[in-house]
Amino acid sequence: MTAKFKADSRPLLTQKYSPLELEHEVRSFWEKNRILKKLEETREKNNVGMLGYVEGPPTLNGIQHVGHARGRVIKDFRFRLKTMQNFYVAFWAGWDTQGLPVELEVEKTLGAKNKKELIARVGEERFVEECKKSIMKYHRLWVEADTMLGLFIDQDKAYYTHQDRYIEREWQYLKRAWDQNLLGEGYYVVAYCPHCQTSLSNAEVGLGYKEVEDPSIHFKFRLSGTENEYFVIWTTMPFTLVTDMIIGVNPKEEYARVKVGDEVWILARARVEPIMEELEIEKYDVLKVMKGKELVGTKYEYPFKDLIPKQQELDEHPQIHTVVDENFVDVSTATGIVHLSPANGEDDFSASQKRNLPMYAPFDEQANFTEEAGKFAGFFVRKTDSMVVDELRNRGLLLKLKTVKHEYPTCWRSHHKLVWMARREYFMWTGKINDKVMEASQKVKYFFDSPKNRFLAFLKEGKRWCISRDRVWGSPLPIWVCEKCGEKTLVASKQELIEKALEHPGKDFELHKPWIDRVILKCEKCGGRMQREHFVLDVWHNSGASPYARFTDEEFSKFVPVNFLTEAVDQTRGWANSLLLEHVIFTGKPEAPYEEFLFQGFVLDAKGRKMSKSLGNVLEINKLLKERSADISRFYFLWKCSPIDSMNFDLQELKGRPYQVLSTLYHLHNFFLQNAEYDNFNPKKHTLKWATNRKALNTPDLWLLSKLQNLVKDFTEKAEACEFNFALSKLEDFVVNILSREYVPMIRKDLWSDDPETLNRRLAVYATLWRTLKTLVLLFNPATPFLSEALYQKIYKKLDDSLPETVNLESWPTPDKELEDAALEEEFEVLLQTLPIVYSARQDAQLKRRWPLAKAIVVAPKKAQEALKKLETLFLELANIKTAEYADEPPEVDHKRWAKASEGELQILLDKTRGDALEGEGLMRDLARRVQALRKELGFSPTDIVEAVHVAELDSSDIALLKPYIGEMEGLVRAKTVHVHGERVKVDADWHESKLDKKKVYVAVL
Ligand SMILES: [Zn+2]
Ligand SMILES: [Zn+2]
Repeated sequence: MTAKFKADSRPLLTQKYSPLELEHEVRSFWEKNRILKKLEETREKNNVGMLGYVEGPPTLNGIQHVGHARGRVIKDFRFRLKTMQNFYVAFWAGWDTQGLPVELEVEKTLGAKNKKELIARVGEERFVEECKKSIMKYHRLWVEADTMLGLFIDQDKAYYTHQDRYIEREWQYLKRAWDQNLLGEGYYVVAYCPHCQTSLSNAEVGLGYKEVEDPSIHFKFRLSGTENEYFVIWTTMPFTLVTDMIIGVNPKEEYARVKVGDEVWILARARVEPIMEELEIEKYDVLKVMKGKELVGTKYEYPFKDLIPKQQELDEHPQIHTVVDENFVDVSTATGIVHLSPANGEDDFSASQKRNLPMYAPFDEQANFTEEAGKFAGFFVRKTDSMVVDELRNRGLLLKLKTVKHEYPTCWRSHHKLVWMARREYFMWTGKINDKVMEASQKVKYFFDSPKNRFLAFLKEGKRWCISRDRVWGSPLPIWVCEKCGEKTLVASKQELIEKALEHPGKDFELHKPWIDRVILKCEKCGGRMQREHFVLDVWHNSGASPYARFTDEEFSKFVPVNFLTEAVDQTRGWANSLLLEHVIFTGKPEAPYEEFLFQGFVLDAKGRKMSKSLGNVLEINKLLKERSADISRFYFLWKCSPIDSMNFDLQELKGRPYQVLSTLYHLHNFFLQNAEYDNFNPKKHTLKWATNRKALNTPDLWLLSKLQNLVKDFTEKAEACEFNFALSKLEDFVVNILSREYVPMIRKDLWSDDPETLNRRLAVYATLWRTLKTLVLLFNPATPFLSEALYQKIYKKLDDSLPETVNLESWPTPDKELEDAALEEEFEVLLQTLPIVYSARQDAQLKRRWPLAKAIVVAPKKAQEALKKLETLFLELANIKTAEYADEPPEVDHKRWAKASEGELQILLDKTRGDALEGEGLMRDLARRVQALRKELGFSPTDIVEAVHVAELDSSDIALLKPYIGEMEGLVRAKTVHVHGERVKVDADWHESKLDKKKVYVAVL
């Protein structure tokens, strides 16, 4: 045998697509050659614009899972796209390093009962050190995951929210807020765990619902100025009567005055019967029914004025201890009248805020009542339930006491019942700037309507923002308060702190607890000592400060507003919100710090369930990518569904279509390379222009090149619009259908020959494939950077050393008008619609595609006929038919002789009769196909030319039929000679058994 490859040439691509090996190779190539740095340096010097970016910082607590990875792949996709469009993009990493999850992990590691116990045991210094250790552990894992995923984010330029320089710049936001009177103290009702002594976020509250037992009491409050009229009320939290301030009715509902013995009770009309039954009262009369609003303003006798002097004082207020109207009051349960304790409930609190009532929150840090609670002072709030019940009973106000079991939120860590209580906190009064915030938010591009509407609706609420947290590991709130006169000051730089300090812990102290708390300032008003407020900042404030805090002043003016951000849809309430609020506060202008924001949906498991530790269905990136291809995973993230939809991540699906698409792209390159190398294709010389000048481009090439221009246009548009799934299905269709299934069969025969006379034609096909495949490699790069780089290095760079060092330094393709040909595309459309009809007619009549047929009749509209006539040579070749006739109407034919199939307006009739010539040719093609399969099995490359092919055990009639086609067969099987035998003669190679229809034949290749 003679190999078509030259002796010193070896295949540049392996036969098999092995993504893991290839990705490993590419990672080393990028690292060894500092590709990312070179890319940044090149675009920094030479660009069409600078695009800012700030990383939505992942919390360094936990490991990157597929939910994170989806967003990270989208970010990287965008970076590579924009970079190839010659923009410089500040794609720099960032990490959120503080907050409750980090503290909880350290508590767990150090084996703490609760935070207080732990701090007392190890001290704040050690605690802070442990927090730092913990985040660095996760940092390593995240960087590793990013590297595996192929993220081109600059890790060296990362920001960390706990670093002093970041904190100092974050403080600048607070200073602007302070100066504009947008930052100050207020009360806030929080869910509080008395055991852990910390407040819980709403998300944490949701984690711990449990069935618990509580007292259930019905009691009555007497109407002021009456002897025997009462409001009837129910509660499961008697202790809240200590802070009772108002009672609520629903103004639109009906209430009844009911005579019970000597007394008159007031309750919701609809609740009279059930409550009487509950209280076992058989005799009663409804005296009068009225609307709830008629009760509003009625004063009632708060029963514990003698026990709580502060309540006696509050009672003087005209609205306190009166009936108020609130639409949230439900008359379908209990008595339809609720007692409200603004210090112990969220609805209660907002009802009181609306009416500007004074705050009465007599609790300390341990949720014990303070002196202001009179007789109840010193007791843990829930412990006073029974005292309250006793007092009611003593006063004849208790109607019934029992216990109930109900679902109630408990602490997810310690399982203690939570209490809601008002606490003093610091707030951003963002309601004051809501107009500007709304204006700013309107200027942003969100790509899809549903997340946009959700975001804007949330912003419109203009809720004040509680930015203080009672924790250790966080950016400190830089507000100091005078011990003597209560004066407050905000100092937003370390330098200034040192200058103003009466005491400080040495000049190089860190901007964290406990050191920052050792800074004592001098009061400018009275000369007294000022202590820092003990709070740290909400982590959302940390990350929301990133546009200013992560950059220098110069970078800030260059990069902000940043161009494009994307995060999961829950960030409407999180980062997207805090970024916007802080930027409006910082600049004082109705401007957002980002121009575009894409909210992505969540990633769920294959069955559509949320991924969680308890279900054990979390897919960690570090583990996943040890076994799975990063490219295929990336492709899958983008291709499976719209970025705003939830995605069911199914490992089985990775092996399906996404693998097929990438593998097809790989094998198309193999096909191209093997042929092009053999013919010494030189991309610098054999260009499309060269081929055009030699008239060597045929209609399939021109059609393919025209389709390619559409692809470039469509793909770019969809990618820019964040319709990644549509963009990638365009690529998928082009690779699998247009290129592999349609174009390659059209030109395969042209490449089969090695006749020097047809060399130009072959070179023209290579020029077409070079342009097409290289464009595809560029279009694939944002989605599958490893495969693109590998093909780029192994093929394009090898054949043309003048190309840039990496595919990432290539420019993004743009459609070439000169290659567009809409008319030709329409004609091919007809051809590609007709061929399947031919195949289906053949199938019905059991005529193999390889068997040539004498004639087809095409029944079609005029325009389709014209198209097929223009492409007739190609049509006949692909349909494997000798001649075609065209008709407007179906002709009268003999149904035994003609096979038929149709689709829409197209009908095909095939002449089934085959003479010796056609049968001989069909037989030859059947045999040739078996030889081709055997060649492949024996390890011959498609371009190798073998010495001889022998076929044995054929009938003498078959041999006679075959004779005229031996020459053609030699070409098809790439053999110098082909011999056919009746018996297996002795040859210098093994005979291989093969089946031809039902007969056995034997083939030998040498
Ligand atoms: Zn707890
Ligand atoms: Zn003072």
